[in-house]
Amino acid sequence: MFKKLAMALLCTPILVFAQTDFDEIEITVSEVTNGIYMLEGSGGNIGLSVGEDGVFIIDDQFGPLTGKIKAAIAEYSNDDVQFVFNTHFHYDHSDGNENFGAGGAIIIAQNNARMRMTEDNFLQVVNVQQNAYNADGLPKITFTDSMTLHYNGHTLQARHFGSGHTDGDTILKFEEANVIHTGDVFVRYGLPFIDVPNGGNLNGIIRVMHGAIAMADADTKVIPGHGQLSGRQDMLDYVEMLETIRDRVYEGITAGMTLEQITATNPVRGYPEGFLNNESFSKIAYGSFF
Ligand SMILES: [Zn+2]
Repeated sequence: MFKKLAMALLCTPILVFAQTDFDEIEITVSEVTNGIYMLEGSGGNIGLSVGEDGVFIIDDQFGPLTGKIKAAIAEYSNDDVQFVFNTHFHYDHSDGNENFGAGGAIIIAQNNARMRMTEDNFLQVVNVQQNAYNADGLPKITFTDSMTLHYNGHTLQARHFGSGHTDGDTILKFEEANVIHTGDVFVRYGLPFIDVPNGGNLNGIIRVMHGAIAMADADTKVIPGHGQLSGRQDMLDYVEMLETIRDRVYEGITAGMTLEQITATNPVRGYPEGFLNNESFSKIAYGSFF
């Protein structure tokens, strides 16, 4: 039970205390644009493309939800899921891999994301053990910097801009449809979790955000890792928050202050705490410089 709670905490940090039972979770579907949908349940937002080639999903939430996710997709297509693209290795985005892989889906991820999935990994911020996936759950296709998929009439660009939230993040864009899925590089619950032990860092996530913003225009629809459908301005506001906090922390470091002294200045002031608070985020920000 503790594990289930902690798993849920990794994902939807604010709402989850009452949502420890996956039987209670419902999958809701929002149309983003013609043929592209956003699915919400527990865990990271799922992007869905249905069309003449078949079914393509971006991230797959928790294993116990696979049946409900498939049932939700079945409202839009009779086909099985052919491809699962993992935005990164965290299991609130990839715990369904073993189920979808066993069902015949081909999983795709950045090289480092796959590497993390082959290892047992203790996620210290949430005190959770994420174990290696079996062969079914591992990506069969990986890439280093970028790849392009041509599916359901879309040109789907996958870009890795270096370490950000983790060291294996992918930003995906359906070019013609003008829809981006950011994974957890961009979230809507306030201060983001940055997985420093798994290659993430604050300057990196800022750099990746600028890469994502450069892929967007005023009309782009953005599926964040967690939270509501967003746009380019939301990403601009978010990266401005990160840069402001980064600069405050860096100022303290250059002044010779310790982490405790920097934390006491409340570098996150003016921004909503959520999953992380001043103490935990200042520690992550500070750690990103060493
Ligand atoms: Zn994550």
